[in-house]
Amino acid sequence: MAITVVGHKNPDADSITAAIAVADLLSKRGMEATPVIQGPATPDAAFVLKTFGLATPAIETDATGKDIALVDHSDLAQSMDNLDKAKVLFVVDHHKLGDVTTPNPLEMWVWPVGCSGTVIKAMYEFYGIEIPKGIAGALMLAILNDTVLFKSPTCTDADKKAVEGLAKLAGVADFKALGMDMLKIKGSVEGIPAVDLMNRDYKDFNMGGKKVGIGQVEVLDLGLLDKIKPALVEECKKLQKDGRHTVLLLLTDIMKEGSEILVVSSDASLVEKAFGGKVGGALNSMWVEGCMSRKKQVVPPMEKAFA
Ligand code: MG
Ligand code: MG
Ligand code: MG
Repeated sequence: MAITVVGHKNPDADSITAAIAVADLLSKRGMEATPVIQGPATPDAAFVLKTFGLATPAIETDATGKDIALVDHSDLAQSMDNLDKAKVLFVVDHHKLGDVTTPNPLEMWVWPVGCSGTVIKAMYEFYGIEIPKGIAGALMLAILNDTVLFKSPTCTDADKKAVEGLAKLAGVADFKALGMDMLKIKGSVEGIPAVDLMNRDYKDFNMGGKKVGIGQVEVLDLGLLDKIKPALVEECKKLQKDGRHTVLLLLTDIMKEGSEILVVSSDASLVEKAFGGKVGGALNSMWVEGCMSRKKQVVPPMEKAFA
């Protein structure tokens, strides 16, 4: 049976390119493997695939009866439906360890780096398999995407080194310029419905038994979001009504390097405790200076406050 390689729901550039790359790597190790995605590619992920001539994987959301390789996540809430009826054989990730468990032994590559792409480059090297040019370029852009051109606090020296090596393999001279083109596409919000912006980079978590949703929109200038902010608050409210204790939306200004966090919660004092600030204003929000990373600067303090 072919191994299904899949990233998280609401797939980003990393989840998509990681699925493609790990499927390639497993195939070259003699296994049959197919990359899939759990939803349509975001505009910036589509740019990455197009730039390096890679096909968009098919959409699949049900894991029943399948052999699975998870990339870029290990949280059940972000994974395929019916994962308990599948066999997880691999995990390749760069987040906190989630709640996926297996009755069988498995191969896990989980590193505290800025992107799954950095781990995957090391996997290719470990197995002595050459990284195809297109995949090298796509992994390179995925790392620049996840680390916001190295500006995110999640970025490590390993990520920078990986980008340099991958850029050479892909024949890209100015990776920063190409990365900036990608981030401009990621941050172009004009004319995009609030519901789509909300879902583009949205993840559910289980925090102390409570369901918490955290989305993120990264823009070059927060002013671009002024008009749509009230509609984004309404989207947060809809998600919260749908069985969540708290929904946060990080509006991240990648130039100012900080986030305005929209807060819709049954108990906003928990969010205030997490960030040591006050939620207020017309939008019920708070500015958190220096906050760029959901996984490093938002999930850990929230989990602590909800414990
Ligand atoms: Mg991701
Ligand atoms: Mg990632
Ligand atoms: Mg991200």
